[in-house]
Amino acid sequence: MSSTSDPIPLARTHALWQRACAVMPGGVNASARHNPALGHPLFMQRGQGAYLFDVDGHRYVDYCMSHGASLLGHGPPAVLSAVQEALDMGLLLACETEIQVEVAERLLALFPGMDMVRYACSGTETTWHALRVARAYTGRYGVVKFEGHYHGVNDTVGFSHWPDLALAGPADQPHPVPDSAGIPPGSAELITVLPFNDVEALERTLRERWGTIAALIMEPVNYDSGGIVPTPEFLRAVRDLTRQLGIVLIFDEVLSGFRIGPGPALGDAVIPDMTVLGKAVGGGMPVSAFMGKREIMETCSPVGLALHSGTYNAPPVLVIAIRALLDEVVRPGFYAGIDALGERLYGGMREILARHGIAAWVQGVGARFGLLFGLDREPQNYRDVARQDMEMMRRFHLACLKRGVYLHYISPHHGYSSAHTMADIDETLNVMDDAARGLSI
Ligand code: PLP
Repeated sequence: MSSTSDPIPLARTHALWQRACAVMPGGVNASARHNPALGHPLFMQRGQGAYLFDVDGHRYVDYCMSHGASLLGHGPPAVLSAVQEALDMGLLLACETEIQVEVAERLLALFPGMDMVRYACSGTETTWHALRVARAYTGRYGVVKFEGHYHGVNDTVGFSHWPDLALAGPADQPHPVPDSAGIPPGSAELITVLPFNDVEALERTLRERWGTIAALIMEPVNYDSGGIVPTPEFLRAVRDLTRQLGIVLIFDEVLSGFRIGPGPALGDAVIPDMTVLGKAVGGGMPVSAFMGKREIMETCSPVGLALHSGTYNAPPVLVIAIRALLDEVVRPGFYAGIDALGERLYGGMREILARHGIAAWVQGVGARFGLLFGLDREPQNYRDVARQDMEMMRRFHLACLKRGVYLHYISPHHGYSSAHTMADIDETLNVMDDAARGLSI
């Protein structure tokens, strides 16, 4: 159970991991927390601002940031004080209060074309609810998604997030590959997986199957494959075809929302029929939301027949965290600060990698980025990033971890927060320079 190859002394981590393995499968509560490079998870004592502190006393500059949820840093004072206000209201309630209404009004004002909202807790839940509503609204059951896009672990869309290319079929007609065992075969019959940024495959497939398709769901910026941006022609085709064919277009902004500006990742370039939010929207609290045009959202019970209910839906203690996030992101200078950090970090990384002769593509889009080893040009779809040099990535991540910079080991996307400072970025670049020196050929 212990790893002999740890690049840093982790005695307390090992002791905790051994205890954890006896009581939790793999010693973790999310499979992504297992670190295949180390052979075990890390155990943290706490997070503060831009930093994580592990149980063995190491401090890391964090570039996972709770997989993107902690856009304001760990323990942001604005969120903590908002949460305290709601705690004083009685914790859960399971009732409506003014907070849900006020936050709905403020959220909708930032997302053009969205008229109504409902809250949930996780990204997995909110994509599932949005798809249920789209199915109830259209009376169809098929769902189209793109290869390399991730929408949570639910059975409806748990396909082809990072499929093995040996199973994934031809590039222009990918096979749906389940992300997990245990997904009923019936789910595969309802999902169509397409290549991103391929107008021809999109048009051919939607025209062939439109009568069975309820929704097309996509990440407007595909951070889950390293930050792939849609081409303008592709975006236009997605909007025009879904509108023509009566397919509900859902933008999954769980990762992209608030990442580039105070609202949708693509601004008002294309307006979807529905939007789902998670991660950053809660400022670190587990809250998500789905929004849409009035006639679609009124398919939700009790107005319509799509059941959306739950004991833990929209407790004030979570929804009030959205209010705190919104207060922060509309503050003048918030995104100028985010952009300045990104410019220094991304430019610095490119310079360091080039100087050390390491082939890698830095795909920085707002506050998150892909660091794709072995790529020499901007990726257009999952197949481009699936060929990256995973061994080099693993070595680089480990070398950074050893020096106090935490890149989430297997993730294709990393990111920083508004709590990071220029000094943190400079410290990170020094670490990366040193790490790259050890890897250069
Ligand atoms: N949608 C996107 C785009 C995501 O990146 C994720 C998580 O990484 C999800 C949905 C699922 O969110 P959660 O992990 O909160 O279930």
